[in-house]
This record gives sequence, structure tokens and C-alpha cells, in this order.
Amino acid sequence: MPRIFDKSKLKTDCANCDSVCCVVPSLPYAHYPKPPRVPCKHLDQSECRCTVYSELEKRGYSACRKFDCYGTGVVVAKLFRDLGRSWNTHPDTAIIQFHTFTIVYLTMLKYLHPDRAVEFDISEELIEKLKPLTEAALDMLVETADPFAAIKKP
Ligand code: SF4
Ligand code: SF4
Repeated sequence: MPRIFDKSKLKTDCANCDSVCCVVPSLPYAHYPKPPRVPCKHLDQSECRCTVYSELEKRGYSACRKFDCYGTGVVVAKLFRDLGRSWNTHPDTAIIQFHTFTIVYLTMLKYLHPDRAVEFDISEELIEKLKPLTEAALDMLVETADPFAAIKKP
């Protein structure tokens, strides 16, 4: 059954997130070409906060303010916190969180912008392996998997 995403949850909530968006993507700036899956040099890794957020435009990081994760960061952070982990405190599982974020974010992008080309740099094998985590995160963004569930008799 296709998922019906809960639009109210497809929102950023940076205060309740661990800023994985400042780690996973490469940054599109000529003056700072950050590679993927490396924390941005402006990220306070213990607090998971951008140290230059009030000056993004002045410092030439305007694309950062425009980034929308559609709620992906929050649900992936919650999923890993519920497992007692976060990329900044558990480097052994950080890469799993990074890939989970990527797969869920690109899935949301594909869902919301079907005409946009979406490219994964993660192997099919790994996508399959991470399915339980990505499915769990996607389920957290779903209103209900079955719109008739509430009116169905037991
Ligand atoms: S400049 Fe700030 S908002 Fe942009 S990636 Fe770095 S830490 Fe994140
Ligand atoms: S991943 Fe999303 S919610 Fe988390 S800090 Fe980035 S934009 Fe905000």
C-alpha cells in the first residue's frame, strides 16, 4: 500500500535535530567545497549547532538557510536517539545514520518533486540492508498507512 505522508510532519525542526544536514551533503560553495559525510567546519559538533547561522549570507552560505529536509533530519535523529545513538556521540554508527538520512531525504524529494532527477551515491545492496531503518523513519512521517483503517471493523 502506498504511503500517505503527513504534511504537518514534513517540516524542519532544527531545535530537535542533530544537524545531520550540516554533515551529510557536500556544500556547493567555491570558497568552501565541503565533501559529503564530513562535518562542516562551522558546526559545533557537541551542541549540533551552526556557529555562523546569524551571518550565513554575509559569509556566503546563503544556500544553507534555504535547505529544507522535509522533516527527514528530525525523524532520523529521533530514530537513532531511541536506539541510544547519535552520529556525534557514536562514531561507530555515524555512517549508518548518514546513509539513512540520505535515503530518506532523497525518497522524500522524489515523492514531493517527482520530476526532479534524484541520484543516490549508495549501492543498491546497502539501500536494501538499511531498509528496516529507512522504512521506520519513513513510517514516522506517515499519517496513516491505510486511510480506511479508522472506519474498519475489527
Ligand atoms: S555553514 Fe552552518 S548551516 Fe551551513 S553547513 Fe555549515 S554549520 Fe551547517
Ligand atoms: S536536518 Fe532538517 S531539521 Fe535537522 S537541522 Fe537540518 S534542516 Fe533542521
